[in-house]
This record gives sequence, C-alpha cells and structure tokens, in this order.
Amino acid sequence: MMLRISVIGTGYLGATHAAGMAELGFEVLGVDNNPAKAAALSAGQVPFHEPGLPELLAGHVAGGRLRFGTSLVEAAEFADVHFLCVGTPPGVNGAADLSQLYSALEGLVPHLTRNCLIVGKSTVPVGTAEALTARIAELAPEGISVDLAWNPEFLREGHAVYDTLHPNRLVFGVTTPDAEWALRQVYATPIAAGSPVVITNMPTAELIKVSANAFLATKISFINAMAELCDLTGADVTLLADALGHDDRIGRKFLGAGLGYGGGCLPKDVRALIARATELGAGESVEFLRDIDAINLRRRERVVEETLALLGGGHRPSGRVGVLGAAFKPLSDDVRDSPALDVARRLHAAGVDVTVFDPAATVPARAVAPQLVFAATAAAALHEADVVLHLTEWREFRELDPAFLRTVARGRVLIDARNTLDPEPWLAAGWDFRAMGRLVES
Ligand code: NAD
Repeated sequence: MMLRISVIGTGYLGATHAAGMAELGFEVLGVDNNPAKAAALSAGQVPFHEPGLPELLAGHVAGGRLRFGTSLVEAAEFADVHFLCVGTPPGVNGAADLSQLYSALEGLVPHLTRNCLIVGKSTVPVGTAEALTARIAELAPEGISVDLAWNPEFLREGHAVYDTLHPNRLVFGVTTPDAEWALRQVYATPIAAGSPVVITNMPTAELIKVSANAFLATKISFINAMAELCDLTGADVTLLADALGHDDRIGRKFLGAGLGYGGGCLPKDVRALIARATELGAGESVEFLRDIDAINLRRRERVVEETLALLGGGHRPSGRVGVLGAAFKPLSDDVRDSPALDVARRLHAAGVDVTVFDPAATVPARAVAPQLVFAATAAAALHEADVVLHLTEWREFRELDPAFLRTVARGRVLIDARNTLDPEPWLAAGWDFRAMGRLVES
C-alpha cells in the first residue's frame, strides 16, 4: 500500500515539498496554521514567487492527489509519514526559535491513531531531534509507536521544484531500520534516478544542513573580503574569482563578490550555529563565523556609505536614489533579511528619497518596508534619481537600456553592487559605472 503523507507548515519549503510529494505519486495533505495560506493553496494558488511551482501545485490540487487544510487532527488520522516543515526563525541572541516545531508536535501527536513516522525537514540546531523525541514520547497516545527521523532540506529558492524532484543528496538521520525503509519508499523515484543517500544518526543530519549553509556563507564572505582588498589595490575580484574557480578543489560557484548573502536561511543559520556551539561550550570552534557575518554586513554598509557620500554626506544627505531589486536574490520574492531592502531602508532612514523596483517582490517588500516608495517599472524607479543602485541580480536588469535610462535619471552614477551588469553599454551611454571590488575601465 502506498504511504500517505502530511506536510506540516506550508511556507516556501512545505508548499514545494507537498507538491513535490504529489508529483512523486503520493496522496498528500498539507497543513498550515495560517488559514489564509491554506485557503490560497487549496485554491491552487502559491502565495509566493517560485518558478514552476504554481503549475505543479495547481495540477495536483485539481487532480485530487494534493489538498491543504489547517487541521493537525486531520493530518494525524490521514498520514503514515508526517513531514515537519515549519519555520525555525531567529530567536534570542540569534539562537533558533523552535516554538513552531513544538507547537506542531503538540497539535499532532496526541491525536495520532496509528503507528507513524515523523520526519523533520526544518533546519534545526544539533540536538533538537533528541529533545523532540522526548517530547513525542510524552505526547504519544498509549499503544501508538511514533518514530522520528531528520531529513534536512537543501532546496534553493528560485530552483525549488527542480531541487525537490532531483535532490543532489538525500540525508536520512534515523534511529530505526523502519524509518530508513519508509524514507527510501518516499524518495524511491529520485533514489532510482541517482540521488545519493547518506544514512546517519540524527545529530549528524542536523549538523550537515547547518554546516552546508555555514560553508556557503564562508565562501561568499571570503570572496567579499578579497573584494575589499581589490578595492584598495586596483585588483579585480571577478577575474580573481574566475581564476580561483578554475581550480576544481575550489570551484567558481558562490564566489560572486558583491552585496553579500541574505534571505531566510544563510544569515539565520550562521548565527544559530554560533549560538548553539556557544551553548555547547564550543564557541571558539565557530568564532570565525562571527567574522563571516561581519564581512557580510560590511558590504551593505559600504554601499550605504558610498551612496550617502555621493549625496553630500554629512548629517543631511539629500537627493533621490533609484533602487533595482528588493528580493534577497533573483527568481524569488523572499525579502527576509534581504541585503537590497536593508540598503534601501537605511538610505531612507538617513533622509534620502528612495524608490524601489523589483520584478516580483513589491508586495512582500512593501509589507515590511511601507516607508519606501515602490515603482511599477525600473524606469519609473530611476525617474530623476541622483544615484542608481543595482542590488538584486535579476536577469531583467541585465537587459535594461542604459541610454534610455540616462534620459530618465538626473544623476549619472550607477553602483552595480552585484557585479553582474555589463559595464560597457552603461559606460557608452555616459554612466559613471561603479562596482564592488571589480575594475571598470572608463
Ligand atoms: P516559512 O516561514 O515560509 O514557512 C513556515 C510555515 O509554517 C508558515 O506557513 C507557518 O504559517 C507554518 N506554521 C508555523 N507553525 C505552524 C504550526 N504549529 N502548524 C502548522 N503550520 C505552522 O519558512 P520556510 O522558508 O518554508 O522554512 C521552513 C524551514 O525550512 C526552516 O527551518 C528553514 O530554515 C528550512 N529551509 C528553508 C529553505 C528555503 O529555501 N526557504 C530551504 C531549506 C530549509
């Protein structure tokens, strides 16, 4: 008999996972305690921007294999395997706030009517699964056996559908052969297609995820530290990164110098790892991650300072700034800890008129930064701008017409804080093109 699956917490991760599980052939119930989110998903609508997900999700909702609701009691009755995909946002001192996990278990476990497997997918500090196992034992009804496994998720927003259906590795943190068997059933299709499987204990599975994100953050901050040196010495960080990348022990990916990382994962996971290691008495082992975080935040500061200096500096900078980008990265409307929005907000707080354009993230950006003005097009955002900032590397921005935009803006300085625009057409159109650690021949 085919396993039935529930997905608890249907945000970026859970909605994608639920649709992915339906695509793999399972009957799936997604549960979220936000009724508006559950209602939108039930109507086949994805309440965030993720390429390919609306089609996949709507297809399986219409086909009847995938449905959404708000009842954990219903999930308890329905599924054999329950995936926990709730949020683990930053709490006190950067430590992960695990309250969503505990409240999901408290709503689910007392209502279980048959033996089942609960699978954590959320990113958690090492040791969380052990604590949750104890809580599950307290909550489980008499005679019901509840197993817990940890199966961290590595999907990338913007590529989430592909990553869910073709995971580049599957990590199963398990304590019983039954749990491993069930997870191999769930992921039979990607395993048959070649996704490697790592079977391990739960602490290792928890740590694999946070250390992967800490490593990626380290790579980005490393190249940004080199960009700082390039700026001081006349070296070019993009050529440096290309040359480093030719060494396949290093690789070119995640060596894009610029405004640094953001989003709902890397910044919080780095800080949560520092907090957890400190709790464990191993703060020194991850001391370097504080520098990684600090280098990352310095990039934002640098753009803010350069912009304010261009606008007269001092206590009363004045002028208009046109900002290209609000999402933390392209192909996403996620603005959680977005470097672009952070820069825009700080400039506004310094007294600058800021107008922002993003191809997908206007609605969520306006919700968290209502003080900013949002334009419907890039040209409208640049209208009479004294300085233009390129802060999120959307493909659309590489296709803008610099000559036309020169007629729209008042000033001529463009700061390409992502190092992804081709300077040539901008220079040819008369822009003063500035980059981040990259040499631009004017
Ligand atoms: P999110 O905030 O978008 O989604 C969490 C969802 O859980 C929300 O819809 C919320 O309403 C719901 N929820 C909270 N408490 C609940 C409860 N008690 N019962 C039912 N639903 C509840 O967060 P996200 O980005 O999807 O991340 C979820 C987890 O996955 C985090 O631990 C994150 O670190 C991890 N993760 C995220 C990504 C990503 O790209 N977003 C990738 C890998 C791992």
